Amino acid sequence: MNINDPVSALKGIGEETANSLNEMNIYTIADLLEHLPYRYEDYRLKDLEDAGHEERVTVEGKIHSQPSLMYFGKKKSRLTIKLLAGRNLVSVVFFNQPYLKSKMAINDIVTVTGKWDRNRQTITANEFTAGPYKKEKDFEPVYGTRGNLTVKTLRKFIAAAFAVYGEQINENIPRNILSEYKLMPRKDALRTMHFPLSGQDIKQARRRLVYEEFLYFQLKMQALRKMQREETKGIQQKYNLSEVKEFIGSLPFPLTNAQKRVVNEISADMKSPYRMNRLLQGDVGSGKTVVAAIALLSSVSAGYQGALMVPTEILAEQHAASLKDLLKPAGLKTALLTSSIKGKKRRELLESLKAGEIDIIIGTHALIQDEVHFQKLGLVITDEQHRFGVEQRRILREKGENPDVLFMTATPIPRTLAITVFGEMDVSTIDEMPAGRKGIETYWAKQDMLPRVLSFIEKELQKGRQAYVICPLIEESEKLELQNVLDVHAALTQYFAGRYRVGLMHGRLHPEEKETVMKAFSENTAQVLVSTTVVEVGVNVPNATVMVIYDAERFGLAQLHQLRGRVGRGSDQSFCILLADPKSETGKERMKIMTETNDGFVVSEKDLELRGPGDFFGKKQSGVPEFKVADMVHDYRTLEVARNDAAKLIASDEFWNAPEYKIIREYLQESGAMGSEKLD
Ligand code: ADP
Ligand code: MG
Repeated sequence: MNINDPVSALKGIGEETANSLNEMNIYTIADLLEHLPYRYEDYRLKDLEDAGHEERVTVEGKIHSQPSLMYFGKKKSRLTIKLLAGRNLVSVVFFNQPYLKSKMAINDIVTVTGKWDRNRQTITANEFTAGPYKKEKDFEPVYGTRGNLTVKTLRKFIAAAFAVYGEQINENIPRNILSEYKLMPRKDALRTMHFPLSGQDIKQARRRLVYEEFLYFQLKMQALRKMQREETKGIQQKYNLSEVKEFIGSLPFPLTNAQKRVVNEISADMKSPYRMNRLLQGDVGSGKTVVAAIALLSSVSAGYQGALMVPTEILAEQHAASLKDLLKPAGLKTALLTSSIKGKKRRELLESLKAGEIDIIIGTHALIQDEVHFQKLGLVITDEQHRFGVEQRRILREKGENPDVLFMTATPIPRTLAITVFGEMDVSTIDEMPAGRKGIETYWAKQDMLPRVLSFIEKELQKGRQAYVICPLIEESEKLELQNVLDVHAALTQYFAGRYRVGLMHGRLHPEEKETVMKAFSENTAQVLVSTTVVEVGVNVPNATVMVIYDAERFGLAQLHQLRGRVGRGSDQSFCILLADPKSETGKERMKIMTETNDGFVVSEKDLELRGPGDFFGKKQSGVPEFKVADMVHDYRTLEVARNDAAKLIASDEFWNAPEYKIIREYLQESGAMGSEKLD
């Protein structure tokens, strides 16, 4: 009798039941034992004073009135008693259990379990026991089921399986780790989850299983990463350290500590023989561009070319301009490539890129066209990496021979997600802002306060500043009643007529029109810019100090934070005004969070809490792993501990050789995380 036998080996499980179990991914006895309850029925005696509305309660009391039974039709009935439970005189109702009437009489002590309606002081009971409360069980597990399987039968099967096979449950965490964290043995943890004696027990059992799940997950990710590193040889970029240092010294400001740290992390990757595969995250304005410039300069000093790919033309132009300013004094040749650059100019540019005369190229997806060739591509950087598909990033990478790759993102990713979703990448984080930044003041206003908001904008304009006004949609949608960008533009043009000029920006404009509008705004010939979210990333007009966002409740927190990041880029105090009438509590909570913090990491952590991990990156391509027991948000401390433990294990010789780790190595090999390497 082996724990890995099919479930049908268990007495009472026939073909039909086995099929239902298979549908739930339960094939073997071991799978059955690992099918854990998703909640527990709580049978502990409750004081109704403490019980919440609609909570399931078990109470003991004295019957205070003659039971009354009413029938509706042939089969339906309602049996009602008054029960004195503690100091509460409540009604207890039993539906369709008329036979219970003979078991109860006035002044009897009885125990009932059911749903508590606090407002009507009524328990709708489904369980009844004559006599005082007898502690038989505190909790009963509730399982997910399929087909004809009921929770009760599943409980029965699991109990039977435990009786016969329970002793065969193997430990899969090394003993030293178990004792370090005082974790329950696996066998005990599973037994406790299925047959708990107390709430405290469940907590301890869960703690053990959460750790196990995270540890194995992390081991797998990190073993994969190690394998990838060793299999994909990269280039060793022997950069010129004194040149790099000189460049850093020539910057108009000292690097922040966070910038120094990430520059070191990136440099270490670049000179290592492995291919860099690193994510650089930092809040808007944290200074990622200069970090990118340092990396690019390093690559050039090692004899290579660098490429920076960004999602929009506006952004490409801005990056090209700022990198040119930064790198030209150091003697580097930079160039911009977008689809608007055509004809002879384009041909010449492509020629000199191929000949190695251009050191750094900045561009949109134009960079991944077939016609683009490098002489010696060493470093590829993509900005706002989540906007590019995996395929696009691959094509750019393949324009060189295993160049180092750096992904930049201004959407701060909560630590837990960074560890899980990007587990196969290295992550560098700029978690510190350059000194002397003024925080943006954020206010939440109801839409009917618009007149006051307009006069506020006007005051700022009078000081010579500029303002953004963001709307969610381009055209009118009666159904959603959203402000649309065309209407708002028309209204504001009229409002400011003769005093200020109002520009209009949205995704359906032609590239040349977009460019004209952005130019007008950045040169301050237009003072107000009404726009959709196309200005979300990267746009940099330091003189703009007001950001007004219509229908702000329609946007995600991360997006609101990005939009807000368009202001506060100069030395003047900036403001963000959220116009919103959220209906839900979560909606209100989101507006409040925005007014309370400027820290993108705090915003993203809150966003994760409110939306849950599955939703964080949007529904479509979340890539967020699902855990059986663990909860990424609430168990994140354990996740970090497990990650560090996994890293230590993977780096140690014992892990790869000693017998006590054999069970983990076998697991990793089975899951493909160790390639074809032969073990033991
Ligand atoms: P982001 O991370 O959003 O790309 P940028 O790289 O555009 O941020 O930097 C925002 C601004 O901060 C730029 O004007 C840049 O010159 C400035 N900056 C960057 N690093 C520092 C620093 N260490 N000290 C002062 N200013 C800095
Ligand atoms: Mg940037």
